[in-house]
Formats: sequence, structure tokens, C-alpha cells
Amino acid sequence: MTDRYQRFATSGLGRRVVHALGLPNPHPLRRHRPGQPVLTGPVLVGGAPGGRLGEPVGAVLSALPADVHTAAEPGRRYGALVFDATGITRGDQLRELHAFFHPVIRALADCGRVLVLASPPEQAGDTAEHIAQRALEGFTRSVGKELRRGATVQLVRVAAGAEQGIESTLRFLLSAKSAYVSGQVIRIGAGAVAPPDDWERPLAGRVALVTGASRGIGAAIAEVLARDGAHVLGLDVPAQRAELSTVVNRLGGSALLLDITAEDAPRQLVDHLDNHAGGRPHPGVDIVVHNAGITRDRTLGRLDAAGWDAVLAVNLTSQERINAALLAGNTLRERGRIIGVSSIAGIAGNAGQTNYATSKAGVIGMVTALAPRLAERRATINAVAPGFIETAMTAAVPLFFREAGRRLNSMAQGGLPVDVAETVAWFAHPASGGVTGNVVRVCGQSLLGA
Ligand code: NAD
Repeated sequence: MTDRYQRFATSGLGRRVVHALGLPNPHPLRRHRPGQPVLTGPVLVGGAPGGRLGEPVGAVLSALPADVHTAAEPGRRYGALVFDATGITRGDQLRELHAFFHPVIRALADCGRVLVLASPPEQAGDTAEHIAQRALEGFTRSVGKELRRGATVQLVRVAAGAEQGIESTLRFLLSAKSAYVSGQVIRIGAGAVAPPDDWERPLAGRVALVTGASRGIGAAIAEVLARDGAHVLGLDVPAQRAELSTVVNRLGGSALLLDITAEDAPRQLVDHLDNHAGGRPHPGVDIVVHNAGITRDRTLGRLDAAGWDAVLAVNLTSQERINAALLAGNTLRERGRIIGVSSIAGIAGNAGQTNYATSKAGVIGMVTALAPRLAERRATINAVAPGFIETAMTAAVPLFFREAGRRLNSMAQGGLPVDVAETVAWFAHPASGGVTGNVVRVCGQSLLGA
């Protein structure tokens, strides 16, 4: 799907006009299709001396499989550039970044991938290493703003002891599944990692609850989790009965009509999950995606208490109450996944959205507060923070703000619901046990909250 400006900008005449006037240039993004290889071109791998990720990265790349090169060749274009920066322990060694990337950055293929692998600064052996590792963020975020033609860059911080838990993250970030994710800093810790029997159906045998599943981003999440093998229990308000049935019937899932803000919603939900497995593989739930959300936009002086309460109730407090109920017993199964849907408004704030941004910043708090507790049951919690995603919600935004939202990011275009869904599926993956406590923006590296 492309917007009208994007169609113009990629036409013969449009391309010349866009180039001559220096207008935003939204390159069509490559998106995943089942059966497609992770990488479409060779990968150039390098690293600073003394790095600890060369061997695990090599193992993942040979499993893909990938055409791996360790020395740049003139004239060759690369599908990905992967650099192990864990060996950088002093500021003067940061020049290794320049030495590796400078000769090849312009040889990156369309929709290419740049990955810099690093250590968490707080695990550094000394002050100099901490500073040098922290410095890497400025590098990757700037590269993201320089890259063209749909290419992306990420910084992945791999904790000591987590070296063998990087495969699901590398597969996601190198593939077309991460089309609209760029400029992110992702952390992998030493969690329980279970590589799937089949990387095409990693969620086989798992039950996934998706709230707000009848349309928009929630329907896309339901679809992608079902594609990956999960039995999807789609939840929405009773008024969405027909739309929800259409979605879950198409996916062979099941439906639950429930207003998550109702007083007894957590009890009803837990009861449904524990006692009425229906067509699902087992009672309880493996994956919970808190996607349901609403807006009631007004500047603070014009916002009444009802508009405040409604947004906080759907977007935050109902989710807290549901989490508490799921964790009180064993409804969320061992190695479970909780996934929140925040927003860049929850990071940057937004005029007219004090209620919404408060709720979405609260979702980030939910992630940081619950991550250590969930680790005790080898479960994880993360959130996506979408930027401008093409849905009914954003189609209703007035034209000027809509165009600004679409263009003010490194991709110069809006994302699609599937981009958020693919990120959720990576969090949900059984091999993502070390991925917890992350808030990953799906925003094409939006200028907001950068
Ligand atoms: P949407 O309005 O199309 O879908 C939201 C769904 O949630 C609807 O099906 C709705 O019926 C359901 N819902 C609302 N209140 C509910 C309740 N009380 N109980 C159960 N279900 C309820 O919205 P969308 O654009 O698909 O957004 C999905 C999520 O992504 C939301 O949390 C939203 O805040 C977030 N988000 C969207 C964007 C974007 O650009 N569209 C950007 C950032 C974040």
C-alpha cells in the first residue's frame, strides 16, 4: 500500500521533481512474504578486535543461510552490513566504525540492513568502555538519518551470557519483517531461549490473546501471530461482534466479546482462559497483546474528566488489572509473553493528547516494572511504540497533521499495521526469551521523540 504522494514521488516525472526540490523521497519498503529468504543479498561482517559476538553471529548467518563476506569488494552491493562493536573499550577505538562502514555504506542495497552489535554500557569493565559503548548510539541514530532507499539501522546490545540468544532478533532485524523499524536500541539479556522446530511456524501450539483484534493494528497482529502458528483468541467490545468474527474465522481462531474496562473483565477473562479452552490447544495463555486503545483528543483546558478517564481506563489501568489477574495464578503460562502497545506520543508527548500520552507512557512503565517479576517465571514483557501507522485512526487525522506525521521520519512515509504486527511476533517468539524490558519504536525513525 502506498499513499498518493508516494505514488507521485516514485513515478518518472515525480522522481525528477522530488530530486530537484529536495522533497521527501519515500522509497517503497520491502515487506515479508512467507517462504521468502531472510536476506536478499550478501552480508558483509566485520568487527573491532577482541569482540565476543563473531562466532555466534557467524552461526546464525550460516543457519539462515547467508552469503557471508568478511572483506569488502569494490563494486559489490550488500544486503546487510553487520559490525561487532563489543571489542570497543576506549574512545579512540570508535574509529573502527569509520574504518568498516565508510568504504561500504554507499554500497548498501535498496532496503538494506545495518546492524551494530554492542554491550550494555552498565556492564562495562571501566569508565572508558562505558563511554565508548554509549557513544555507539549517536553513530547508529545518525546513520539511520543518512540511509536512503528504505534501508534501516539498529544497535543491538547483547548482555554477557546472552550470546547464544540472538538468533530471533537477528532474523527479525535482517529481514523485511522490520521494514519500518529503524534507529532503535535493542537489548538482549540472558533469558530462557527455546529455538523452534520450524522457524516458519515458531508459535505452533501456543495460545495468543489479542485485544482490540477486530480491525486496524489488532487485526494485523492476530493475522501475523496465526501465520506463525498460534491459536489466536481475539477480544473486542460486543459492538465489534461482526468484524471480530470475520477476523478470527479467517484465521481459525476464537473470539471473546468483552469490554476490558468492565469491573469484572479480569475475572471473566481469566475464567475464560482457564476453564473454557474451546478449540484452543490448552487452557491458559502463552502470549498476551494489549492492543486495544482509544483516543479522545482535546487540549488540556478543553478536556473533560470523562475524556481523561475513558482513555486511561482502556489504554492503561484495565491492562494493569488484567496483568495482575493473569499473574495471580498461572493463567499466563511459563515462558509467557506480555506485549504492550505504547506510542511515540508516550515518549515525546503530543499537543491535544495529555490523556493518551499519559496512558502510553504508563505502558512503558508497565514494561519496566514487570520485566523483573516476569523473569522469575521465565516470561518476558516488551512494548511496541508505533509512530504514524496507516489505519482508520490516522485516516481521521486532519490533512496537515497527517502529512506531517507521514513525512517527518527517515522513511518519509507512514508504516503499515503489519509492521507493528511483525515486531509483536518477534517479541512473542520462543527464541526471544532474552528480549525483555524493551520498548521498540515502529516509526521509520520518526523525528518525534528521537
Ligand atoms: P483502532 O481504533 O482501529 O482499533 C482499536 C480496537 O480496540 C478497536 O477494535 C476497538 O473496538 C478496540 N477497543 C477499544 N476499546 C475497547 C475496550 N474497552 N475493550 C475491548 N476492546 C476495545 O486503532 P488502531 O489504530 O488499530 O490502534 C491499535 C493500538 O495501536 C492502540 O492501542 C493505539 O493507541 C495504538 N497506536 C496506533 C497508532 C496509529 O498510527 N494507528 C500509533 C500509535 C499507537
